[in-house]
Amino acid sequence: MPTQILNTVKQEVTQLLRELIRIDTTNPPGNETQAATYLAHYLASVGFKTEVIESAPGRGSLITRLKGTGEKPSLLLLSHLDVVAADPNEWTVDPFAGTIKDGYVYGRGAIDMKSMTASEVLVMELLKKNNVKLKGDVVLAATADEEQGGEEGAGYLLKHYREKIWCPYVINEGGGLAVPTEKGNVFTVQTAEKGILWLKIKAKGTPGHGSTPNTADNAIMRIYKVIDKLENYQPETMYIATLKQYLAEIAKYNPELNEPFARLLANPKQSEQILDELAKKDRALAEEIRPRTKMTITPTMIHGGVKENIIPSECDVVFDCRILPGQNVVKTIDLIKGLLKDVGLEKLTFEFIQMHDGSESSTKTPLYSTIKTVLREFEPNCGVTPELATGGTDSRFFREEGSICYGFQPMIPDEPIDQLNKRMHGIDERITIENLVYGTSILYETVKRFMS
Ligand SMILES: [Zn+2]
Repeated sequence: MPTQILNTVKQEVTQLLRELIRIDTTNPPGNETQAATYLAHYLASVGFKTEVIESAPGRGSLITRLKGTGEKPSLLLLSHLDVVAADPNEWTVDPFAGTIKDGYVYGRGAIDMKSMTASEVLVMELLKKNNVKLKGDVVLAATADEEQGGEEGAGYLLKHYREKIWCPYVINEGGGLAVPTEKGNVFTVQTAEKGILWLKIKAKGTPGHGSTPNTADNAIMRIYKVIDKLENYQPETMYIATLKQYLAEIAKYNPELNEPFARLLANPKQSEQILDELAKKDRALAEEIRPRTKMTITPTMIHGGVKENIIPSECDVVFDCRILPGQNVVKTIDLIKGLLKDVGLEKLTFEFIQMHDGSESSTKTPLYSTIKTVLREFEPNCGVTPELATGGTDSRFFREEGSICYGFQPMIPDEPIDQLNKRMHGIDERITIENLVYGTSILYETVKRFMS
């Protein structure tokens, strides 16, 4: 048997995850140094030299490296140490206790993404222990700040310590979950992410008394027009390579989708109607595909007015706009301003809260082939598909610097995928110990195979 489930690491990887969950790295403020230091001690105990680098006090990231012969390009095993907040009152267990119950490890970060940190550490340990002859360096980085954009973590390290962290290949979070079908599991590999443009648009007017509306210039009404214009805008449909491959792979496992997917691809201008039709049969699938075919722009916050009888002179709205890889934030800003011309641009101000382009890695690489081969050895009938994420991860920093990045934490869903997804950043986040061992086993085999 070339591939096997590594049951021998079960204790270690489970314990490592529990210890990481017990170190509260809720971001903000993060306090990742404590977790980075814990990992440094752990790795030192199994023979690794490590470094903890802080971007600011308490904001530590851990880096270690296994040297190869240099015959192959290096590979980075990336993860983030910070987590989003958890309200203990909403959970059935303490989110920071690392509780084991019914075969699960519970806790904030159990999936996103301390489990993958634990797996990656185990992979490093096994490569060393088993004396795997590496042809390229394998680097491990467990970083700060991903949940707040990553500028204090992966972004900082790439800017200031590029020689320590940059690799041509990166494995990170964001994919790996199997989608069960009647013909077998289809595993996702995150190869692309949408870009982000968070913008606040503020309208200026002139105040007045609520009883005499014609004497004032109501800022709320101007913002109403802004929302109306952007809500009625029909963004152009674009099919990126990742989406086309995703549709093809899903259809292989669900032949009844061949026809609607072929129509969708052939008729980008009718994409909304075709997806509406598909939604009648499979709403989850249609709504999975829809935001991946175009940019989206959604109002998420609004502020205006101070008193019942005062017409406000100021009102603002925040939009969460997500653009496809290949689209560009600067052009998108121009486009939005163009749409708002007749609302009165001179009375609007724009603030850009966060902005960066989307990113995409090709699947025509030796690492993608290795992932596919290894998965098929573990699961002979499985499919493997690239996936475009609507949200972002630290992979974007590396793709901007030319790395091939894949989000890949192999996992078999233990409950319906929409329920499982709700736990990430939600209540009672958990992972089965079985999946923890499964993910570690596949990751180890992939790295070993790719680097030797
Ligand atoms: Zn994450």
